[in-house]
Amino acid sequence: MPRSSGAASPSTSHLDLSLLNGFSFRCRPDCGLCCFTSPAVSEGERRKLIQLDPNVPFEELTTGEGDKENEFAHVSDQGDGGACHFLHGLRCRAYGARPFPCQSFPLMVHIGRTAQATLVLSCPGLDLNGLPGWAGARPPQGAPRGLDEEIRATKAEWAQRGGAGVVSGLTPLRRRGSPRVRHALRTFDWEAMRSHLIPNLPLPGPEDFPADAPPGADEPLDQLPLFFDEVYGRVALREREGGWECLPLRESGGSEAPLGLFPGPDTPPKLLPDAETLLRGYLGYVVRREFFVSLVQELCEDQGESDPTVVARDVLVDLGSQVMARAGVRAKLLGQGGERLDAPDILRGVRAVDADFLDQETVGEQL
Ligand code: SF4
Ligand code: SF4
Repeated sequence: MPRSSGAASPSTSHLDLSLLNGFSFRCRPDCGLCCFTSPAVSEGERRKLIQLDPNVPFEELTTGEGDKENEFAHVSDQGDGGACHFLHGLRCRAYGARPFPCQSFPLMVHIGRTAQATLVLSCPGLDLNGLPGWAGARPPQGAPRGLDEEIRATKAEWAQRGGAGVVSGLTPLRRRGSPRVRHALRTFDWEAMRSHLIPNLPLPGPEDFPADAPPGADEPLDQLPLFFDEVYGRVALREREGGWECLPLRESGGSEAPLGLFPGPDTPPKLLPDAETLLRGYLGYVVRREFFVSLVQELCEDQGESDPTVVARDVLVDLGSQVMARAGVRAKLLGQGGERLDAPDILRGVRAVDADFLDQETVGEQL
């Protein structure tokens, strides 16, 4: 969980909470998915955790060059894909002193042109029944339910970290890419792009399959995409021998015996009508994220592409194919064929993809 060292002056800048509308949340005690990580901690949080457990191991946050940043560290995990040091028997032994990323999850704030809270839809405690509504021009309204504590923690962190100063400090384009691309991005009308995309959300076709496979067997377990399975708990996906292997992870590290090796779909599975509506709803939610704009911006700079609409469509098609492929593999894990996907299948696909999708570098930052 990235956490930057924003040094801006306090302000009352607006924190956009509109992407929480219409959702409800109730943490599942049998889950623990979000604790299979190494949460970032501030100096103050670190001191409280050491009071609880003098032997708590930390990893210092380092940049790509290996320079040490002084302000933040991570609580170490239990190694080999295992959970955070503090998780035992799916209970946090530091609950009262858990750091900010744990207090706010499944809510996260992306700071790009604006600061916007979004929900990590992989969390099985979120009710996603309203997701189809995000495909329309008028997204669901109504205050979120069950997220009061997470919103309170986020607002407090936002105020402490400096509000608007953080946004203005992070929005400039990086000095990469050609001047032509940078000029095009600076003057681009991102809201017009959203207005155009939402009624015309692209879905993947035969040419978009097979979707990208998960990382291979030589990647460490903690780098693999993870989802919560009702029967097997936390299951990681990896590519092996041309198939997709499902591995249930142990809290203390390592995995149980693989649950099976399933072929990823070579052609798009058939989407039943409710499934297609749900997939469009997910893509409509993604388009409204500032994270999406920042990701498209980053990819345009990388690719030297001055038309963000082209890149945006590619991102959505790729994401859609990932949802369908992971939905198909999860259906096979349930003993179904996976060639025809219904709405519950697509929900499983969204849950298997969203945390992974949000774990990408963008020109913005994460609170
Ligand atoms: S992933 Fe969601 S449901 Fe699971 S433990 Fe975390 S907050 Fe609770
Ligand atoms: S500190 Fe507690 S809540 Fe946070 S990741 Fe570790 S076990 Fe989970």
